[in-house]
Order: sequence, then C-alpha cells, then structure tokens
Amino acid sequence: MTDLVIRGGTAVLPDGLRRADIAIEDGRIAGIDTDAGAGREEIDARGLMVLPGVIDVHLHFNEPGRTEWEGAATGSRALAAGGGTLFFDMPLNSTPCCVNAREIDRKRAALEAASITDFGLWGGLVPGSVPEMAEMADRGVVGFKAFMCDSGLPEFPRADDATLYDGLREAARLGLPVAVHAESEELVRALSQRMKGRTIRDFLDSRPVVAELDAIQRALLFAGETHASLHIVHISTGRGVALAAEARAKGVDVSAETCAHYLYFADEDVERLGAIAKCAPPLRDPMDVHELWHELLEGHVDIVASDHSPTEPARKAGDFVAAWGGIAGVQSTLPVLLDRGHQERALPLERIAALTAAAPARRFRIARKGALVRGHDADVVLVDLEQTFTLRAEDLQQRHKTSPYVGQTFRGAIRRTVRRGETIFADGRIVAQGRGRFVRPAQVQSDASEP
Ligand SMILES: [Zn+2]
Repeated sequence: MTDLVIRGGTAVLPDGLRRADIAIEDGRIAGIDTDAGAGREEIDARGLMVLPGVIDVHLHFNEPGRTEWEGAATGSRALAAGGGTLFFDMPLNSTPCCVNAREIDRKRAALEAASITDFGLWGGLVPGSVPEMAEMADRGVVGFKAFMCDSGLPEFPRADDATLYDGLREAARLGLPVAVHAESEELVRALSQRMKGRTIRDFLDSRPVVAELDAIQRALLFAGETHASLHIVHISTGRGVALAAEARAKGVDVSAETCAHYLYFADEDVERLGAIAKCAPPLRDPMDVHELWHELLEGHVDIVASDHSPTEPARKAGDFVAAWGGIAGVQSTLPVLLDRGHQERALPLERIAALTAAAPARRFRIARKGALVRGHDADVVLVDLEQTFTLRAEDLQQRHKTSPYVGQTFRGAIRRTVRRGETIFADGRIVAQGRGRFVRPAQVQSDASEP
C-alpha cells in the first residue's frame, strides 16, 4: 500500500491533461495511473486540476535581518497558500546580504529553521564579490543576482560594467546563470534627479520603458560575448521580452522572467492604489500589458515569478517617491495566471505548469522537481477551476496583510498544496508539519575545479 493517493483529479502532465490517480511513496511520485490501489492516506481530487507545485524563482523573504518586513516562516506560508512548494530567495533585503559563502550559510540555517516549503538561494553579484562566487557556487546557490541600476539598498550596490563583465565570465566558468535587474542607471538616475514633483506620475516617468530596453540590450550583449547564462528578472514590457527572444534565436543563453503584477495591473492601478502597487520597473500602461501578454502567449516568456518584496506598512505610507518599492504578491501568481491567463485568454494549463514549475526547475537544474513525473518529488497543487474567490486581507498568510491583490476576484482557487507528499495547505489553512529543505542545482560538467 502506498503512503498517499491523490485520486480522481485531472493531472496536468508534461504531455497534456489526463484523468489520473497519483500514488506517492516516501515523498516521491511512485505512479501516475488510471486506477491506483488504495493508499494509507487518500485525497479526493475529483473535479480538481492537479498541477506541479509552483516554484517561485524570485522573491525576498528578508531573513535574516529584516524579518519585521516578512520572514521565511510567514513568507513560505503565503507561498504555500498560493500553491507553491519551492522558492529561491534573492540575496538582498536580508541583512547582511548574501555576497559570500558565510552569509549563504547563515541564511540557509535561518530558512531551514523557518520555511515550510523547500528553498534555494541566490548569491549576490556586487562590486567586490566576484572572488566569492566560486565558494558561493560550492554552497549550492542557483545563480548570482546583479542590479544594473541602484538597488535601493546601499549595502547591495549595483554592478558597474566591469563587475558585470567579470561576474558573467566567472558565472560561465562555474556553470551558473546571472540574473539581472535591467534598468539603465544613467537614465533612471538623471530622470529621478530632474523629477519636478513627487507624484506617482513623476515617479513612473522617471523609469520609462526605454530604460528597461536599454539595459536588457546591454545585458544580452555582455552575456553573448562572455558565453554566460543570463536570466532577466521581472521584464515589464512585451518589447523587453521580444529583445530576449531575438537574442535567444541568435544563440544567447537567456531566460525571460516576468511577474504576475505586470500581467495583472497597469499604471492607472498604481495611481489608484498608491505605494502598495509601487515597484521597479514600474507598472506600465495598458498597451504594454497587452503586449506582454502577447509575448507570453507566443511562448517568449519562460518563467513567471512573484518578486514578492514586502515591507512594513509604514514604509509604504507618506511620500510616494520615498516609499519602499516592492509588491507583496507571493500568494497570487497562480491565481493571476489561472484567471487572466487560462480563463480570460485560453492559456493552456500545461503552459501555466511550464511557466511556474517546469521551466524554473529546468533552467536552474533542480533535479526531480517541476513536473508530475514518476520519481519526482510529490510537489503538487490542487486547483478548483470552478471556484471563484475574492482575496481578503485575512486570507493572506504573509506577515503584513497588505497586497494590491486584496479585493480582486479570481476564477480558480487553490484547494491544497502538497510538498514532498505532505499536505502543507488545505482549504484556506496552513497545516504544515515538516520543514522545508534546501535544494541546490544538479552538478554539471565544468572546468571550475581546474587551475
Ligand atoms: Zn526582486
């Protein structure tokens, strides 16, 4: 008898949808069959869609050091409530930042103690950290994050051109990707300095689309010349995605990430909602949102992440330009894709599974995750496409119960999240028993150990 059978659901498999029972043994998928034998535990999934657990490759849980902003205990609960089973934490907003092996060790220990989902870690690429990259790679980071513009945190300075160049070369040697926040420092700094007022529109105008396109183009050039793997985080425009797709067609090893909020909200929403919807790059005009969806539907977006970056509510109040930039949406990525993607634009569920699970696992070489396949970890989310819900503040599992998604209605609800065979979220409640584990990329052949 197997440990667990998820019975009677419609499984979203790599090759399509199929009515199947999923048998789970020792936390792994032991079989996907039309009629599994009895399990010691059974989950009735009739009428539900069964997808691989969401892998959120981009978020900030700010632990250790800024857990008053979020923390892995609360953040991972919110991820689980959104169907997530694995996240990669960014190297900044925690204090100190993860720019060397010692800080990676500290963060890993803190997250192992706190997270209910599995997790991986990004290392930081900042001026001075290139010599630390090999040791961070030894510790199992998924890649290295760099800012092409000011990060907003003095302790995580932007990568100047030489740092980016050296970092890409070193990352290529280590066989790991570099993730870039792509906005032009020159343009954003100059436009911010000559900002006339302090209104929301003034801020939006200080970070125009061209600032993103310019930085993406330069990052692609650098990656191509250094033969590095490049991951462009939170691309906010269809034109930015198209640049990445064109470079890929020419042989550049690039993956394009966007975030749920760029697909869901537009600039008019920031003007309505205020700093709760402030982020960088900022939300764009409705035509850009339309173009971004077009690129996603064309298959040019690889990964959709949350870039969950919360803070204390007080830091979101007052002067808009000074307010913390970051959207707290870790719980809403899958609902956004189900509602605005599947229901509204006929985005196939297999594509949603690819954007949120298969592509993240493949790009970052996380073995046995990202798809419903025999032998993989039993990371599963059960979704009811017939259920409509309106997100309430009290539904949020994150530390501070504020999110621009509160009050929004979604067609498609997350009923249960299973991490390595253990239910961690069910029917609105966190029921986790066990703790999340650290995951690291699978080894590749590289010359990193050679002199
Ligand atoms: Zn971020």
